[in-house]
Amino acid sequence: MGNLKLTNVTKAFGALTVLHGIDLTIDNGKFVVFVGPSGCGKSTLLRIIAGLEDISAGGIEIGGRDVVQLSPAERKIAMVFQSYALYPHMSVRKNLAFGLENLKFKRSEIETRIGEAARMLAIEPYLDRKPRQLSGGQRQRVAIGRAIVRNPDIFLFDEPLSNLDAALRVQTRAEITRLHRQLRTTMIYVTHDQVEAMTMADEIVVLNGGRIEQVGTPLELFDNPRNLFVAGFLGSPR
Ligand code: ADP
Ligand code: MG
Repeated sequence: MGNLKLTNVTKAFGALTVLHGIDLTIDNGKFVVFVGPSGCGKSTLLRIIAGLEDISAGGIEIGGRDVVQLSPAERKIAMVFQSYALYPHMSVRKNLAFGLENLKFKRSEIETRIGEAARMLAIEPYLDRKPRQLSGGQRQRVAIGRAIVRNPDIFLFDEPLSNLDAALRVQTRAEITRLHRQLRTTMIYVTHDQVEAMTMADEIVVLNGGRIEQVGTPLELFDNPRNLFVAGFLGSPR
């Protein structure tokens, strides 16, 4: 546990620099939304925090500890992918167990964690089904469940609702907010949707062209956008 601190995080793919010295501290337990136009570097930044992508320069600390060399599991970070990332040939139970089995968890511990996550997400009736036998919303719950069973210190979501229809988006959004209230774990949520950012975030990080334009609460950004980009993006009246 502890705060997540990024210092001058820089990322280049060959000659293309996509993150230009990101400085950001995320306090433990917050729900933080990264928002910005397509291609601005949101997913890259999330993957860097997760440990799925290395950095070209800069530092990453969690609770004061340098984690740059650590794997996602060692960082105690779990990422929620879009629901189509479920293994289609495995049951829901097996989808939930798989990551823990790879980490050599005891069978009894795996069962306990699956039971807790299934209860939390109301997916107990579906544990023995295959993903294709579930609705889109149920599949997305399983995708979230796969992160919960890892009992992470930080959850990362990369546009998890983009495959869902409008009604289901609203419902799943509420579900994720409820989960945050219940777990009080740090969550970082990426979206290009301003409404999602404004309604879900404790704190919003506005990105543009690989740089942070502004950080603040939804109200702070709406009332006091630093520049025209932030104002325009969040629909502030100025
Ligand atoms: P966002 O998630 O905000 O849409 P991304 O982080 O996916 O943006 O991408 C940021 C920039 O980095 C884009 O210009 C994208 O083309 C580039 N990019 C992302 N991943 C790679 C990669 N593996 N190789 C080369 N360029 C990449
Ligand atoms: Mg993206």
